[in-house]
Amino acid sequence: MERIYNFNPGPAALPLAVLEEVQSELLNFKGSGISILESSHRAKEYEAVNSEAEALIKELLAVPENYRVLFLQGGANTQFAAVPLNLIAPEKHADYILTGTWAQKAYDEAKKFAAVNAIASTKEENFSRIPAMDEIKVTENPVYVHLCSNNTIFGTQWQTYPDFGNIPIVADMSSDIMSRSIDVSKFSLIYAGAQKNLGPAGVTAVIIRNDLLENIPANIPTMLRYDIHAKNNSLYNTPPCFAVYMVNLVCKWIKNNGSLAAVEKINDEKAALIYNTIDNSGGFYKGHAVKDSRSKMNITFRLPDEDLEKAFVAEATKQGMIGLKGHRSVGGIRASIYNATPLEACKTLSEFMKVFQDKNC
Ligand SMILES: *Cc1c(COP(=O)(O)O)cnc(C)c1O
Repeated sequence: MERIYNFNPGPAALPLAVLEEVQSELLNFKGSGISILESSHRAKEYEAVNSEAEALIKELLAVPENYRVLFLQGGANTQFAAVPLNLIAPEKHADYILTGTWAQKAYDEAKKFAAVNAIASTKEENFSRIPAMDEIKVTENPVYVHLCSNNTIFGTQWQTYPDFGNIPIVADMSSDIMSRSIDVSKFSLIYAGAQKNLGPAGVTAVIIRNDLLENIPANIPTMLRYDIHAKNNSLYNTPPCFAVYMVNLVCKWIKNNGSLAAVEKINDEKAALIYNTIDNSGGFYKGHAVKDSRSKMNITFRLPDEDLEKAFVAEATKQGMIGLKGHRSVGGIRASIYNATPLEACKTLSEFMKVFQDKNC
């Protein structure tokens, strides 16, 4: 059977080379005589996978020495609660920038546990852009400013991260981690559910600066405590072994393909193919995101009417391109083109878009 092009927003495409590697060692992991799925998380084979995955993430993202990488469960949604619970002491507060559904959810969840302020929002414009620096009014001495790096649903992305001087950023990078190089030292904490750009569902990576592990309030749930997970190298309880194993293989794949510089270059090329098709369509395709806020991971656009959008999705599916239906809060089409989506998929989609337009306008 042929594999098809997968534009799903998450869980999403995985590199074929990684899937083949998983397949080849599924029954007998590194000569252990058992599958990694059957291994103890205390076995040396798994401990090697766990520490290798942390080391590779640090290497690829150039994470400074004074940070840890943790592998946790509960998805990015759990981090919406864990971040304020761990980081905001009772008399302190934090600021949130609202750029979409996930940023809003992070803010709403934090509000349950701590004093937080929404300091900028583009909701009025249906989150079609990232706010400009002069629209962001940071309060006095927040513990952090929270932002969502890439807005998966609306198709916008911070092109460069804002600079708030001494105030660190906490970022949800679920849908663009490892898609480009970043300066980790600007962030006190980065979190990302793996199922878009890092691996399969089931594990969430948290990159945290070590000093934040020092003063975590005593009364928060053990499983949400970053210090406990750090002290135990993410092995406090049974971790999602298979997901971490696959994250490790995805990181190796990135490294073998030229690391983030090469990944970023090809991601630029992939996104340009589709955005150029939108921009050259004479208005047949209309992008949702304002140009200078466009995401390179999730491309959102509309067609002249909903019937055409339905026909577009149906015809694309017939031609072996799935996952293109937009989220209901934007409508239209969303092409999610994470690291594992090959250039060829984007070429095929942009050709399809041209043909579809010729047939239907
Ligand atoms: C998908 C997504 C989430 C939700 O992640 P879960 O792992 O399902 O909790 C949060 N934030 C962003 C930016 C996402 O893309």
